[in-house]
Amino acid sequence: MTTPRTVLVTGGNRGIGFTIAEEFVAQGHRVAVTARSGEGPEGSLTVVADVTDAASIDAAFSTVEAELGPVEVVVANAGITKDVLLLRMSEDDFSSVVDTNLGGAFRVVKRAAKGMLKARFGRIVLVSSVVGLYGGAGQANYAASKSALVGFARSITRELGARGITANVVAPGFVETDMTAVLPEQTQADYKKAIPAARFGTAAEVAKTVTWLAGDDSGYISGAVIPVDGGLGMGH
Ligand code: NDP
Repeated sequence: MTTPRTVLVTGGNRGIGFTIAEEFVAQGHRVAVTARSGEGPEGSLTVVADVTDAASIDAAFSTVEAELGPVEVVVANAGITKDVLLLRMSEDDFSSVVDTNLGGAFRVVKRAAKGMLKARFGRIVLVSSVVGLYGGAGQANYAASKSALVGFARSITRELGARGITANVVAPGFVETDMTAVLPEQTQADYKKAIPAARFGTAAEVAKTVTWLAGDDSGYISGAVIPVDGGLGMGH
């Protein structure tokens, strides 16, 4: 049994974030999720926030701090795709994806770091993607935003590592959620052929890795990129 912590997961109303929050609840932690709409899993506190808006993140943290105590574990999970080939990619296609996936992580981690420094304890987990390391045709915006999380986590590790704070990246491969359900059947079949495990992953497999990184046994792991991808990204 790991020490119960106050945990905040962004984008916890559906998909991988919902399952991560569910797993933290199951392990006995005090869990809050941010959502633009909908709710987190049973047993969690839902706070409204948009990760592109620093003021809404600040308000969400203040509510969580008042209800559950200072945030000790933050999971930057909220993310979007706007897949389109480079020559057709608009300024907005690029900047909105980077602002949500990378800017969102920055805003949330910056707000969380204040309390973590005071407590001299913190666990930061950034949800990246195999695509951030491997690349993806039609995903220059998404891949750039996800690979940037690695430099972000490693810089935080150098800056805050001596204060009991770790920052790690989890890089899932293809996971069955709304995000991958929109892929054409043929594309899904092609991806499966390329994955050594010959299947998509489950949100639970990602969630177990995230909760483990936040747990008592992982205090000496920081700046790492942990793949949960059935071997797809090996060596990247
Ligand atoms: P979903 O599309 O199912 O869910 C995305 C979540 O992010 C939703 O909760 C959504 O909230 C939230 N979100 C998006 N934009 C914002 C915003 N501006 N502010 C607040 N919340 C926002 O995606 P997944 O669960 O599949 O993905 C979760 C994370 O995992 C993402 O970072 C994704 O890039 C990453 N990932 C997913 C993989 C997959 O195969 N599914 C593979 C590798 C990485 P709302 O409901 O309000 O839209």
